[in-house]
Amino acid sequence: MHLLAIESSCDETAAAVVDDGRKILSSVVASQVEEHKLYGGVVPEIASRRHVESISGVVRQALEEADLSLDQIDAIAVTYAPGLIGALLVGVNFAKGLALAAGKPLVPVHHLRSHIAANYLAHPDLEPPFLALVASGGHSHIIEVKDYTAFHVLGRTRDDAAGEAFDKAARSMGLPYPGGVHMDKVSQHGNADAFHFPHPKVDGAPYDFSFSGLKTSVINMIHNAGQKGEELPLSDLAASFQKAVVDVLCDRVMKAAGDTGAKRIVLAGGVSANSRLRSEMQKLCEQKGLPLFLPPLNLCGDNAAMVGSQGYYEYLAGHLAGPDLNATANMSIDQIKIGRLA
Ligand code: ATP
Ligand code: MG
Ligand code: FE
Repeated sequence: MHLLAIESSCDETAAAVVDDGRKILSSVVASQVEEHKLYGGVVPEIASRRHVESISGVVRQALEEADLSLDQIDAIAVTYAPGLIGALLVGVNFAKGLALAAGKPLVPVHHLRSHIAANYLAHPDLEPPFLALVASGGHSHIIEVKDYTAFHVLGRTRDDAAGEAFDKAARSMGLPYPGGVHMDKVSQHGNADAFHFPHPKVDGAPYDFSFSGLKTSVINMIHNAGQKGEELPLSDLAASFQKAVVDVLCDRVMKAAGDTGAKRIVLAGGVSANSRLRSEMQKLCEQKGLPLFLPPLNLCGDNAAMVGSQGYYEYLAGHLAGPDLNATANMSIDQIKIGRLA
């Protein structure tokens, strides 16, 4: 089954064609990062405008690279939640128009479900159930993936997401947006034990995260040093901060894995590109004899191939939408809001 997939939840306009949820025929990503960099973060109104400008060209290119016409597509999948509302609406409206004009089924896809599904594209043998850590720019979740479309959230962040903490801390260190990537690079030359950062726990919620204290502590450290006219060693600071975030992520996910008797672990979301997170999780999972699945680096961040993968399983589950599909800025991964007119 050929699925055309569209993603526009944040600052990437993306389209892809995916076969049976597992095989990428094409994947086109138009990133707006160079433009948002000027402002140190994503400017929602600019993101929406750029999506409007790029979307038809990106979709056309995805079809061309797959060597398929719209007629040969079996269904159209689109990210409808969660994300920046104006950005999501561009993809949703484009997909609705295309589905209506071409007479194709429309498949709404939750963005975090698709981040997890990025792993199905890279690991043909991977099937649910498994335990997933989804760490991205807007979310940090530990999720029991019971089936392709059945999820149970065990833990979540109480404040900042891991990616957001990386981006804000990186900004205070003078690194460009998106900070996580640069923090990872700079950390390669640093001593991760040079500074000690707090490893906050959430009382009574053993799988929850809290990253805002950690972020504030690095910002204060830099500010206080600046007041004394001192400059802190950037690579040591970055490496130590990265270690603290990764320690916390690994600690919670390994605890959840032990408590729930998980048989395999999957990482997903932009932060799963982090080199330290990948190597630490590999070590811990090897120690416990747990298979670990990582998305390839080009599928960690936002793309439409992952939407095409998850879209296939949503289609099989009968989760189709009609012209009353709306975009939703906030929606939990276990929810579904697809309208009534499918
Ligand atoms: P969400 O998926 O929650 O809606 P998003 O789509 O903006 O948010 P993603 O594209 O999944 O987020 O991930 C982007 C985040 O990943 C950014 O915060 C970025 O800094 C972070 N990130 C990317 N690469 C790395 C890395 N190597 N190390 C740490 N963080 C990284
Ligand atoms: Mg992005
Ligand atoms: Fe994302």
